[in-house]
Amino acid sequence: MERGRQVSSTLSIEDLKAAMPDEVVTHAFTRIIRVPGLDGPFALITIDNGHDHTRPSTLGPQSLISLDEALDTAFAAEPAAIAVTGKPFVFAAGADLSGIGKLTSRDQADWIAATGHRVFRRLIDSPVPTFAFVNGAALGGGLELALSCQYRTIASNAGVIALPETFLGLFPGWGGTQLLPNLIGPDAAVTVMVENSLNQNRMLKPAQAAKLGIVDVLLESADYLERSLDWAAAVVRGEITVERPEIDRGAGWDAAVARAQALVTGKTQGAAPGPQHAVDLLELARENNLDVGFAAETEALADVLMSDETRAGLYSFDLVQRRVKRPAGAPDKGLARTVGKVGVVGAGLMASQLALLFVRRLKVPVVLTDIDQARIDKGVGYVHAEVDKLLGKGRISPDEANRLKELVTGSLDKAAFSDADFVIEAVFEELSLKQQIFAELEEHVSPEAILATNTSSLSITEMAAKLQHPERVVGFHFFNPVAVLPLLEIVRGERTDDAALATAFATGKNLKKSCVLVKDAPAFVVNRLLTRFLGEVIRAIDEGTPFDVADRALAPLGLPMSPLVLVQLVGPAVATHVAETLHEAFPERFGVSENMRRLVAAGKPAVWTWDEQGNQRIDPEVAELWQQGSTVLTEEDVRRRALSALAEESAIMLDEGVVAEAQDLDLCMILGAGWPFWLGGITPYLDRAGISEQVNERRFLAPGVASPSS
Ligand code: NAD
Repeated sequence: MERGRQVSSTLSIEDLKAAMPDEVVTHAFTRIIRVPGLDGPFALITIDNGHDHTRPSTLGPQSLISLDEALDTAFAAEPAAIAVTGKPFVFAAGADLSGIGKLTSRDQADWIAATGHRVFRRLIDSPVPTFAFVNGAALGGGLELALSCQYRTIASNAGVIALPETFLGLFPGWGGTQLLPNLIGPDAAVTVMVENSLNQNRMLKPAQAAKLGIVDVLLESADYLERSLDWAAAVVRGEITVERPEIDRGAGWDAAVARAQALVTGKTQGAAPGPQHAVDLLELARENNLDVGFAAETEALADVLMSDETRAGLYSFDLVQRRVKRPAGAPDKGLARTVGKVGVVGAGLMASQLALLFVRRLKVPVVLTDIDQARIDKGVGYVHAEVDKLLGKGRISPDEANRLKELVTGSLDKAAFSDADFVIEAVFEELSLKQQIFAELEEHVSPEAILATNTSSLSITEMAAKLQHPERVVGFHFFNPVAVLPLLEIVRGERTDDAALATAFATGKNLKKSCVLVKDAPAFVVNRLLTRFLGEVIRAIDEGTPFDVADRALAPLGLPMSPLVLVQLVGPAVATHVAETLHEAFPERFGVSENMRRLVAAGKPAVWTWDEQGNQRIDPEVAELWQQGSTVLTEEDVRRRALSALAEESAIMLDEGVVAEAQDLDLCMILGAGWPFWLGGITPYLDRAGISEQVNERRFLAPGVASPSS
């Protein structure tokens, strides 16, 4: 701990400026104002990076120093109170992550950690009351700044509040792990900093933050600043006393730490050091000794910021924040046509989710069709029921619910599609059926209407081959569950034209999906990589490796689920079907397991079953039908095979031009398969584990792109 402080004192802000030359500085301005009812002056500090809300204020080294100086000015005025607030719509979005990705030494990381603590501590220890006026989004270090103030108000329209660090492979290291549990109790703190964050990075609305006690009062947004100043003045005068909960530092704390540990182990399998630090630091926070707690945070943060996992996490963050905004290979946006009506063919699992997504996001008429009225009714009924759920949760108004329901209709007659601009099919995965449906649709729709397919593996080019207007066909591959997985693989067939592709990208964006352009190649990106890697695990079992050994082999990567659980989620029949398609295209690399075929024929949904205590075991009927050889591999052998296969397949896909760059493979695995940020999708991991070079004699990414040690 001592070491942290000594090291930080050897560096100056000039050293940090040199390390992070591109920092977008968030300046802190102090205004000394008079507040009615207060005798002394009031110091109001506004932090603002000078850009509009699309570029939220972040906190890098120069920003911290600016805040430090603003605090000097504030204290010099001998104020009755000090408040910190943000620019319109943004309080602060946390540490400057793109800059942190460029740090080259542990000393620099230490400086960032320790300086954040030192500056924020001035607000904690201030002899005059300090307030955060949370007027807009407060994320990560931004929320920690607010937590460092002695009191907090929040605007009713403040946007999102969260500690997303563990999602990135970090932990809330500018006081978050120490201040939050001592403010709202350890269990609620685990919900905010571990559970929400590790679950697709869930965030809180202002009212939820107020309910949890993260902020003291929720105030109307219209005259938020005035109300906050009035409230602060009443606190200073002693007219308002803020009640804080009694914290259980005994069994309640034990239980919270245990819950945090279970969540972190369940989600990361020990593969990411940052979330584990969150658990350990929560344990330490029980003492409520900020000297000890902050020193431990600094030490851990300096380690974690320099780790491979964090670098990969920051690389992932950059991909999902920036690369998705300018998809590689997307045509000029200006070519996109307007979509005023949508048709959906099929009303099954995917089609009904697609109808819901289209109507919710585009708010245009959506017509569903299927082979009989009962299936159509089921599909439309699903959409209506989901709209009612949104209404029940208060996510939409009764008026909007009625409007959305009226927009979704069903028809057995494809003539109902005649004025649709965009028709997507999600019928059974059969090429001839899809070709026939597109041919039929051409009889009804205008020559410019887009014909999209949600196929998981079939050729877009072949699907379009016999049409009068093949140039309007695009692949629009969503992932199940559609509402959860953000990826949309947009597939260009050989004859797809720029206008159709531009319309597909514009529509994907309006659906709030992250679009990646993919070449028309079997199973596109995510399914091809997952099938290759699952194929290796299943092959090992077929050869004789015990099920549990093979299924545990990838655990050190911290994937969202084990391979055999993934097979269960996808369904053995679908998984086998995709494997067959890939086998047909690339027989030398993709096998089809006879045992998987037996599993499908027996109608078995999974390999594993779970007893009432949650113990996992092999379904005895599966054990019976599965024929194994006598070659037993270790976990390490299986892992090496599976990762080598991934490295080989990824390199081949790049050579074939399936996507523009390795970054797009990573984006697809993060957004379409839920692979963790700390692997960087997959290629940074393969690079740093040395597998890329062993298998392909080259790395995927230039040294330094996603790893400090490279
Ligand atoms: P599903 O079996 O749930 O639904 C298919 C629907 O198509 C059925 O309701 C069926 O009656 C209907 N249908 C069949 N022939 C038709 C015709 N001639 N006209 C109108 N409707 C017809 O299947 P699903 O899981 O929703 O998959 C649909 C498509 O989406 C497939 O191409 C699949 O590969 C793809 N996909 C599936 C998933 C997934 O996880 N299930 C994910 C991504 C893509």
